Amino acid sequence: MVDIRCDECGFDCDYSINGEMEQVVFSYWNHMAKEHGIEYSPGTLGSYIKKRILTQINS
Ligand SMILES: [Zn+2]
Repeated sequence: MVDIRCDECGFDCDYSINGEMEQVVFSYWNHMAKEHGIEYSPGTLGSYIKKRILTQINS
């Protein structure tokens, strides 16, 4: 299980999602595009989320 909060990504937004990696990447990518008009490539977002997860594990 991984979780991502939009406000931790620098947005004034209370969106959060948790679940399986692929699902989180897809849902958050969708949220970014729809709510913030930012279309990251899924690859960019995926590697960002992986980095965040590693940080969470290490802290
Ligand atoms: Zn958001």
